[in-house]
Amino acid sequence: MSESIDKPVDVQQIKTLLEANNGARIKTWLSICSRCGLCAESCFFYLANDRDPRLSPAYKFKNTLGLMYRKKGNVDREFLKKCYDIIWGECTTCKRCSMYCPFGIDIATLIATARSICFSQGIVPEGLARTSANYRETGNQMGMSTEDFLETCQWMAEETAEEIRGLTIPIDKPGAKYMYTVNAREPMFYPQDLAMAAQIFTVAEEDWTIPSSGWDCTNLAMFAGDKALAGHVVKLMYDKALQLGVEKILITECGHAYRSAAFEGPYFAGCTGGKPPVEIVHSVRLFYEYLRDGRIKIDPDKILTEPVTYQDPCNVSRNGGLWEEGRKIIQFLAEDFRDMSPNREHNHCCGGGGGYIPMGPEFKKRRMLSGRVKAEQIRNTGAKIVITPCHNCFDQVNDLNKEYDLNVRVLSFKEIITEIMIVPEKFQPVDEEEAGDDE
Ligand code: SF4
Ligand code: SF4
Repeated sequence: MSESIDKPVDVQQIKTLLEANNGARIKTWLSICSRCGLCAESCFFYLANDRDPRLSPAYKFKNTLGLMYRKKGNVDREFLKKCYDIIWGECTTCKRCSMYCPFGIDIATLIATARSICFSQGIVPEGLARTSANYRETGNQMGMSTEDFLETCQWMAEETAEEIRGLTIPIDKPGAKYMYTVNAREPMFYPQDLAMAAQIFTVAEEDWTIPSSGWDCTNLAMFAGDKALAGHVVKLMYDKALQLGVEKILITECGHAYRSAAFEGPYFAGCTGGKPPVEIVHSVRLFYEYLRDGRIKIDPDKILTEPVTYQDPCNVSRNGGLWEEGRKIIQFLAEDFRDMSPNREHNHCCGGGGGYIPMGPEFKKRRMLSGRVKAEQIRNTGAKIVITPCHNCFDQVNDLNKEYDLNVRVLSFKEIITEIMIVPEKFQPVDEEEAGDDE
């Protein structure tokens, strides 16, 4: 926990935040909860921990934000520390419970509000505090310099051009149709992700560009409860898109980045009407269109034959509306698809969302424990491959794979598409010997 242990809390600031954070709507939600308990069975924390009533969604918000309101903001640091444990350690803000509440109470928003109040008093997980510092200094969660980012793009373009003729990674191209934004983990740890995206866009003959600033579409400040920083992060991306005059912002295979850019970011950034200034498209939607329209064709001899399942990232499916597109992509890629139960917008969180993964070792044990629900879902499909278009889901399912011996491979759409797509003749690398013979 990042905090000043002896510092008294600023009660006046808490009172102000309680009134400012959609106070009227939140007070209504808190007052209409009938304690019916219907939300309990929807929460994977509750299910994975022997139905401990302290892990039911209603218990969690009533004993954090609910008490903050009841006490009219007159709370102390000890109380906020107890809240810390619940709001970061026992909820991923996945929004599944809201679908099962007969009153439509948005429990994730209540938890997120409690996070922002704890944050205002310097109480926030260390892992998220670190990424916040990186965003402030460099505009990306990894603290990568612009120079390193651009060099990585260039390196990937040079390497991949040997496989796909004519491949480039255009930087800051004015007026491009898509400004492609990535999760900072990609240039930092998985540069091949950039290369794979470039292969797909080249073969689809897309008009695209990567921005030299505002390129990290992640927004962990949103999960840290730091709304001002969350607004700053998303604005870097919006401003760059407006400056370049691009048509749309394309989000890499990342769930929370889509939630931030398309749905929550506009409020953080103060955009009129809660709409982003440029249309936001997730890669799942675009990849589906490429396959549907024949811009990307799959080699029928390479279609996956092993059983495959799909991990719906909460912020791509339930909170992003793209659950059918994900399945339609898989129809092109695999012959033995086995859906989880439940699935689509009802699918459970993998247990790694809401900032849980970057929060690090402090929460690892309970992340693995509460991930039991997802592990069982996966095991029950009998799948050998889990596809997921989200970095957090990717890491969490990989961790669950080891923890629960699931014996699966976790793959993104990019990895599969680049492996099995047909590369048309004009993009095939030139055979230098043959080219030499022709001269
Ligand atoms: S938002 Fe998700 S993790 Fe949080 S209480 Fe609801 S179901 Fe549980
Ligand atoms: S389902 Fe809704 S009304 Fe019932 S306990 Fe949960 S939050 Fe309260």
